[in-house]
Amino acid sequence: MTTTTRPVRHRALGDQTWQDQAVCTPTEYNPVDPEVFFPGPEDSAAITTAKALCAQCPVARACLDAALETGDTHGVRGGLTEEEREPLHTRLNERLDYSRVKAVLAGRDIHITRAERRAVVLAGYRQDVPVERLAWLLKISPEHALKLYRETRRVIRHRQIAGQATRAGSADHDTTSAEELHRDDFGTAA
Ligand code: SF4
Repeated sequence: MTTTTRPVRHRALGDQTWQDQAVCTPTEYNPVDPEVFFPGPEDSAAITTAKALCAQCPVARACLDAALETGDTHGVRGGLTEEEREPLHTRLNERLDYSRVKAVLAGRDIHITRAERRAVVLAGYRQDVPVERLAWLLKISPEHALKLYRETRRVIRHRQIAGQATRAGSADHDTTSAEELHRDDFGTAA
């Protein structure tokens, strides 16, 4: 799945306020037919209408994120049909979006995948984020946060040893450190 480091204001967990701006909400002055957002696969007229409305919608990104995060696979969401969205739903757990990792480290309460959670722990470890702060960020106990840091340290140490073995005797190349870790260090590259 595509990753991004663009500055994005991600939707907070449980936030539904974006719906107030949804173009698809029918009002007295905006008589939208909700049925066009649930077209059959061959109903090109309804799909075109729904997509045109989504294209004008100021909260399309939040709408798509909410659909993915809640597993809402029905209807047009964020300008994508059910069929177009299906791969995104299927591969959501593979997402490794560094803008989300940064947002969590900054204290935002947003949806993250398992891969993003691991990246938060790794970044927290590398940046000396206190155990208590990591616990707060991930909504876990300090004991759990400490365990995650210990596991991270073990992974880094394992890589150091593996790197040393690979270099087999080249003592002057022994420069592996936590600073050399990259996005796939936990096998989570998207
Ligand atoms: S993106 Fe489309 S489906 Fe989502 S809130 Fe906006 S108009 Fe409605």
